[in-house]
Amino acid sequence: MIEYENLKKLNAPFEKGYDDAWQRVRQSGWYILGSEVKQFEGSFAHWLGIRHCIGVANGLDALVLSLRALSLNEGDEVIVPSNTYIATILAVIQAGLVPVLVEPDIHTYNIDPALIQKSISSKTKAIMVVHLYGKCCDMKSIMGIADDHKLYVIEDVAQAHGAKQDGEVAGTFGHLSAFSFYPTKNLGALGDAGAVVTNSDDHNKTVRRLRNYGSDVKYYNELAGVNSRLDELQAAFLSHKLEKLHDINQHKRKLASVYRELLGDQFILPSVDTRYEDVYHIFNIRHERRDELRTYLKEQGVGTEIHYPVSPVHQHAMKGVLDHFQTPIADEIHRTTLSLPISYFHTEQDVREVCRIMNQF
Ligand SMILES: *Cc1c(COP(=O)(O)O)cnc(C)c1O
Repeated sequence: MIEYENLKKLNAPFEKGYDDAWQRVRQSGWYILGSEVKQFEGSFAHWLGIRHCIGVANGLDALVLSLRALSLNEGDEVIVPSNTYIATILAVIQAGLVPVLVEPDIHTYNIDPALIQKSISSKTKAIMVVHLYGKCCDMKSIMGIADDHKLYVIEDVAQAHGAKQDGEVAGTFGHLSAFSFYPTKNLGALGDAGAVVTNSDDHNKTVRRLRNYGSDVKYYNELAGVNSRLDELQAAFLSHKLEKLHDINQHKRKLASVYRELLGDQFILPSVDTRYEDVYHIFNIRHERRDELRTYLKEQGVGTEIHYPVSPVHQHAMKGVLDHFQTPIADEIHRTTLSLPISYFHTEQDVREVCRIMNQF
């Protein structure tokens, strides 16, 4: 049996460091916004090469607080990709803003810059890009469009810790960027965790306040904030795992290269472009008979996932909110995509076995 994911196996190499982290936090007697959060914020900002990192409770909050830091007006429009995970769109709605869907490029699965242009209206105030599956969006083009139209750019980097375009790392292009450290992400905690990063001193100050009841000084509230603090214990775990993030990304790249080498051409593989360094949060293929293929693989002992079976437009929760958008490209991706095993614990041998079984379909 080759499982799609197994968090216990994924985290096994880090156990000693996690034990040390737990002891440190337990013995410190300081459990909220202490030295561990501070340390992780510093290390993660350094890892990205950005001025500020603000630890928050999860990736969704990181997106919402990034949007709130822009002080937009209720009803302002934010451009988002039509094939993203629902969190991106929920963040826009939670912030009192209006999501405008733009279709992805069918080859990269990332938002298509040429289509962004066409969706900009007088109400558009921001573009929220998503570096889906671990591939950086075409940020060079997108930042150009944003500059021309004076729009803010927020990056959803939940799936792309360390992905690059032209040597520049995802999360450092836009005005603010949101990370998730949900356990399955390339940098995953042992629970919920997230972060906002920015080069702006002002945005840093605002997000820091917002995550902690809108307050810098205890019991004095400057803003109507929320409780969305990164937990000390999760921060301690993340500091340890961050030391190995490069290895994790390299390992996933290696497994991806084995898939590319061995999979037959009946499967549509993710595009490769030398300008981009992908981190393969997910390795997806597309196939006309996706559901049949998935069942076959299950019978042969190979676990797979679908990211995602239902696109945001077709979610029940989005009735009356998004269903006026036509999204044929997103629909096609959702209909045909299948995610293959590519976790840190998988071996090249595992991937060879998956390819052998797939090629017999
Ligand atoms: C995981 C994910 C999120 C949300 O992160 P949580 O930490 O689960 O709130 C947001 N956007 C994308 C694209 C994601 O994959």
